[in-house]
Amino acid sequence: MKNHAIVTGGSRGIGRAIATNLGSAGYNVVINYNSNSAAADEAAKLVEDAGGKAITVQANVGSTDDHKKLLGAATDAFGPVTCLVNNAGVAPKVRADVLDMPEESYDFVMDTNLKGPFLLTQRVAKHMIENAPAGAGHDTFGGQSIVNISSISAYTAHVNRGEYSLSKAGMAMMTQVFAARLAEHGINVYEIRPGVIATDMTGGVKEKYDKLIIQDERGISPIRRWGAPDDIAKAVRVIAEGTFPFSTGEVINVDGGFHMKTL
Ligand code: NAP
Repeated sequence: MKNHAIVTGGSRGIGRAIATNLGSAGYNVVINYNSNSAAADEAAKLVEDAGGKAITVQANVGSTDDHKKLLGAATDAFGPVTCLVNNAGVAPKVRADVLDMPEESYDFVMDTNLKGPFLLTQRVAKHMIENAPAGAGHDTFGGQSIVNISSISAYTAHVNRGEYSLSKAGMAMMTQVFAARLAEHGINVYEIRPGVIATDMTGGVKEKYDKLIIQDERGISPIRRWGAPDDIAKAVRVIAEGTFPFSTGEVINVDGGFHMKTL
């Protein structure tokens, strides 16, 4: 089975770095995006320059109809999928106090960051089971994996974007539920928790985080720099390559040590 990854939100930021890194490992990569096709085309070129093959597929991860289209396009292009990276995600359009958060913001964030990835994973997991290599199961990892890109927000309460924290906390449990269910099929499931990473998503709060990470006397993380998209991509790549066959449901913090309590 040729290595074949779907990277949701693979057109920009962290997803683009994941796609490129998998491309350099020789993967066929499906770059999913929602609205910015030019960015997706640029990402596809980066994958091909790195040595992989790529297609781009427009699909809203919050829509189950689009899930069908995404998986169909992926299998038509490259055959069975061996790795799903649930990376696409959104911040609330407005950072509103949790007491004032509008219902539409809750639905927008939860549909994109949790309900969509959950239902896409359900679909892709069934596809992986149908296409599992002979012998895959408890005794043999089948080379198929699912990687969820959550956030330090899975355990950090934000009072001005509570719906984002909630979506990422849900993704943490989603990882465990699928890990427990898919172990008998030799499919491993992982959660990567990025810290503060320099992308479009954090562009609007750059000054705030420059201060918190670098300028304050005690920064919020022991490693006092912004994370780069490639920091996350390197972690995805080692997982996808099957480096941890006896680990599933695992959380990998890629956050400069933010998760530690220090005195
Ligand atoms: P980004 O720069 O804003 O890029 C988001 C990507 O997701 C784009 O490719 C975008 O495509 C796609 N996307 C958005 N909504 C989509 C939808 N409904 N359907 C399909 N694709 C969609 O974000 P990022 O910073 O790389 O974040 C990637 C992931 O890491 C997210 O899940 C985010 O929550 C998580 N994360 C980020 C940070 C950080 O500090 N940046 C920290 C922790 C976790 P279009 O351009 O076409 O919309």
